[in-house]
Amino acid sequence: MDYQKILDEIAAEIEPTIGKGKVADYIPALAEVDPDQFAMSITLFDGRSFHTGVSDRRFSIQSISKLFTFTQALGIYSRGLYERVGVEPSGNPFNSLVQLEYESGKPRNPFINAGAIVITDMLLSHYGSAENCYREIEAFVRDTSDDWSVSFDPVVWESEQEHGHRNTALANLMKSFGNIRGDVEEVVRSYFKHCSIEMSTRELSRSMLFLANHGTDPITQRQFVTTAQAKRVNAVMLTCGHYDASGEFAFHVGLPGKSGVGGGIVAVVPKVMGIAVYSPRLNSWGNSYSGTKALELFTTKTGLSIF
Ligand code: GLN
Repeated sequence: MDYQKILDEIAAEIEPTIGKGKVADYIPALAEVDPDQFAMSITLFDGRSFHTGVSDRRFSIQSISKLFTFTQALGIYSRGLYERVGVEPSGNPFNSLVQLEYESGKPRNPFINAGAIVITDMLLSHYGSAENCYREIEAFVRDTSDDWSVSFDPVVWESEQEHGHRNTALANLMKSFGNIRGDVEEVVRSYFKHCSIEMSTRELSRSMLFLANHGTDPITQRQFVTTAQAKRVNAVMLTCGHYDASGEFAFHVGLPGKSGVGGGIVAVVPKVMGIAVYSPRLNSWGNSYSGTKALELFTTKTGLSIF
């Protein structure tokens, strides 16, 4: 298949959609980016990669980081993790408080904010301090992307800390139910820090290879999680990776995927490749508008979907 040609076609075809949607501005530093950027990258198991647009420009991965922390916590806690976080789609926005009250502080899944905050709390307990915890998360992301220059953006980190009242509310509510063990401020600060990690689509598409290959990086042969755990991560990506638009994403794209409010989306074609797209304007569910369209075009043109 001529992947370069397909990516170039997609870039041309999504061009008319580039002005659609709105950049996230509830984290003020995110609103500073050029809203009309686009990038798409794919990385194959043999290491070849194909790109279009600003594929080397790093952006805030935001909730894509939840994919790394969930995988990492699953490797540590195994099945015990599910005592504190479920695996059902929430059908609610990513930062909703309502369901959490009904369901006694146990988040529906690890990809809504409440679930990711519990996962951060679990990683903090395991690694002992905020410094160690962030260092280990960063190391995991660097290992999976095979790039040791990946890091976080202190400006975005600080900006979210100043405006993160809703996330602090989620953490406090869960603390009241006993589902946060650490100090609320520290947990939330750590959560914001991993959300502020910056990566390019080139790096993100590379970092998805282990999830496309049963938990083992096909290039370095390094095993990150077991086959069974990788299957679970992919299943949760498919059912919960786009919040209350997860059904839409499965319907139109047909791949396990995870989005972030920075405008990035990663997706996995099992046994074939990792994919990442970037375009900062978001649809009403908080997922990249043109990025979603680009992924839909990709699976239509290539016939590569899990269905
Ligand atoms: N850091 C963001 C928040 O907590 C992540 C949300 C997202 O990317 N959907 O609101």
